Amino acid sequence: MTYGTTTRKAETALEGARREQGVSREDALALAEVARLDELLEAASAVRQQGKGNTVSFSKKVFIPLTTLCRDYCGYCTFRKDPGQPGAHFMTPDEVFALAEQGRRAGCKEALVSLGDQPERIFPEAREFLKRQGYARTLDYLAAMCELVLDGTGLLPHANPGVMDGPALDKLKDSNASVGLMLENVSVRLMGDGLPHADAPDKVPSLRLRTIEEAGKRAIAFTTGILIGIGETMEERIDSLVAIRAMHEKYGHIQEVIVQNFRAKADIPMANHPEPSLDDMLRTLALARLILGAHMNLQAPPNLSYEDFPRLLDGGINDWGGISPVTKDFINPEAAWPQIARLEKETEARGFVLRERLALYPEFVSRENFLSPCVRKRLNALAASDGFAN
Ligand code: SF4
Repeated sequence: MTYGTTTRKAETALEGARREQGVSREDALALAEVARLDELLEAASAVRQQGKGNTVSFSKKVFIPLTTLCRDYCGYCTFRKDPGQPGAHFMTPDEVFALAEQGRRAGCKEALVSLGDQPERIFPEAREFLKRQGYARTLDYLAAMCELVLDGTGLLPHANPGVMDGPALDKLKDSNASVGLMLENVSVRLMGDGLPHADAPDKVPSLRLRTIEEAGKRAIAFTTGILIGIGETMEERIDSLVAIRAMHEKYGHIQEVIVQNFRAKADIPMANHPEPSLDDMLRTLALARLILGAHMNLQAPPNLSYEDFPRLLDGGINDWGGISPVTKDFINPEAAWPQIARLEKETEARGFVLRERLALYPEFVSRENFLSPCVRKRLNALAASDGFAN
């Protein structure tokens, strides 16, 4: 394909995207190659306007790190620990309840429960802890802790435990408003020697896609997304976004797509790996908006762009994700969340209105088959008539 041909293709793709026609994989690749950043941002903003108007949302959450033990060793992770390392921990039910209660008192409505993936598969210490609590699998203990949080505090749980099978998803649906698993990337290449997923058996893309699909079959509102800057190509990012879109076209259950940027940390194997630039992040966000269309909720974490975070709005996002007034970001402990007042000021300064949402996005609140009776009851108490937080 000549440069001129690609440029015309890119122009046609941009025109189509602005008319809310969505872009094909081929068009996205052409745009990634030749479109100017300002053109992409303008098109992404126009598409967001069609689907989301000037509303930008966030969720007030408390972050519950149920366990830092994990059987995977992702090259960028500072969260995971082996037993015996400082910070290695499995939270007891009392600790879970106390932290959730602290969040409730601070006005949170969401309990984000994050944890390492299947630690009992390789660590006897994890198996022993679970046995003492009466469970064989971390996923079963997680479901019980989500029930504890929902029943005891009224916060809406959103579990993010890694790969899940059908029975685990069935249990989680009883107590969760939504469930999450970052796809990260569909490329198996990233599992090669020396690459970030070389020693991460739960990062096999087909396993993650299967989890997303199983959630779709069960009508579970689902959060997923991509992680950029870990050695993937732009084509692999686009393929990942197209795979997420295909899942949503089939099951209609993807409630939000996160584009998360890698941040280097001193204590990780990828400490010296270059971070993606702000322009790279904006370019990827804009392509995500054009691929996913006007109605998908597109999120970028503000704390991972530090003082530049307001510019992420230019990329077509309509959500800032969960903001915690009580706990740090345990996944990126070096990056503090902005205060909600600052988030509101910066969002409004760019002509948007900041609204608090729940762990379930407004468009899913009225979809009866997406919620268990227990979650529905609590959700009704927290949701305004338009589905945002009341
Ligand atoms: S990113 Fe998740 S799966 Fe990978 S090592 Fe960290 S906690 Fe485990």
